Amino acid sequence: MTSAASVRFFRSEIVSIAALLIAGLIAGLFVDQPVLGLVLGLVLVLLMWTLQLFRIQRWLRDPSTEPPKVRGVWGFFVANIHSTQRRNREAQLRLESTLDYLQDSLAAMRDAAIIVDHQANVAWANDSADFLLGINFPSDQGQPILKLISSVDFREYFTADDYSDPLRVLPEGERGRCLQFEVARFGMGDRLVFARDVTRTFRLEQMRRDFVGNVSHELRTPLTVIKGYIETLQTLDEFSEARFQKPLEQMSQQALRMENLVTDLLWLSRIEAVETLRKTELVDMPQLITGIVAELQPAFPDRVIALSLETEAAIRGDQRELHSALGNLVINALKYSDGDVVVRWWSTNESAMFSVNDSGIGIAPHHIARLTERFYRVDKSRSNASGGTGLGLAIVKHVATSHQAELSIDSELNVGSCFSLAFPFDPADKV
Ligand code: ADP
Repeated sequence: MTSAASVRFFRSEIVSIAALLIAGLIAGLFVDQPVLGLVLGLVLVLLMWTLQLFRIQRWLRDPSTEPPKVRGVWGFFVANIHSTQRRNREAQLRLESTLDYLQDSLAAMRDAAIIVDHQANVAWANDSADFLLGINFPSDQGQPILKLISSVDFREYFTADDYSDPLRVLPEGERGRCLQFEVARFGMGDRLVFARDVTRTFRLEQMRRDFVGNVSHELRTPLTVIKGYIETLQTLDEFSEARFQKPLEQMSQQALRMENLVTDLLWLSRIEAVETLRKTELVDMPQLITGIVAELQPAFPDRVIALSLETEAAIRGDQRELHSALGNLVINALKYSDGDVVVRWWSTNESAMFSVNDSGIGIAPHHIARLTERFYRVDKSRSNASGGTGLGLAIVKHVATSHQAELSIDSELNVGSCFSLAFPFDPADKV
């Protein structure tokens, strides 16, 4: 309501009160009782107000009926209340239709969608939840979600409260489904659980892994035979001339490179295959790191590898995988720098940390995000010359994932690099 309209309402109210009082006063003057006339006028005003208030109060008890036709300032209040109520009703209708729309779209999804309340009980679920997880709405309404989805992995994921990555629950048996879960928080502690059938993608990934693994495996035998013949030819007198020795040397180098590639590819597919399995072995990290440094030092006799063991922390993991990942990081630091390399095992409040620092060629920022891709190299010729396969950091990344660790790369071109792995810290795992 505009302020001009409200002024009009108040003005008409004052005019009508004044008119009644003046009428009372004039009537009083006729009978020589002006005060009585005024009082009667006032009583009349109060009676009119009481009547208006009674009608308003009756309407407020059931605001869905038409508003009463009251006059003056009361009409102004009724009009205001009525328009506020109409706006509220419209907003509520809009909200209800949005909710219906959202619920309809969730219901029509092929993915399972389950709304879980703050006590972790099922509040709503769509039809796909029944199909994929056997959670039926409304019959399972109010049931604890952790009772309805019994997977240990899901229980850990749901209760850990970190939903930054989706969770894959692997099929049980050959014909089982592979499900991917995602959880989103909303409202006052409510959660929306999505589950998607990713069996097809999972099988395709498995086929790809098996294919790479099988091809690498099949290449091994012919490679061994070729290497054997090259070595034999190199020792024969008939091939002792330089024109034979040079190509034979090159053939030998390429065969060795291929052998390293096949070994790394096989190792990568093995790590990938067991990536989701829980690692239970307690690995004595100070001992492992000391061993790695001792193994590498003879291959780089004129280099300093400074070892700093600042914590005794052990971690749950796979000794061989960790050996290869940490070893790759130290080898890279030695390959891509000329100076000292610093290897540290230390801890923060949250994690046990492994880091390797070098003051070498460094890496330009735009390469960093892609370094862990298979065969990604900053400088291909340099990497090939140093005997690299381009798979080292891909192996590190997969080992990190399978240990719930995080790989960080800090590097500055021509200044040096720091590669670190943060393993979620568990004080119980100290030796
Ligand atoms: P490669 O076998 O080529 O070393 P990696 O996967 O181990 O393969 O590394 C990928 C690329 O990352 C390397 O080719 C190199 O360009 C770069 N890189 C890795 N470590 C370092 C480092 N410490 N300093 C500079 N560049 C590095």
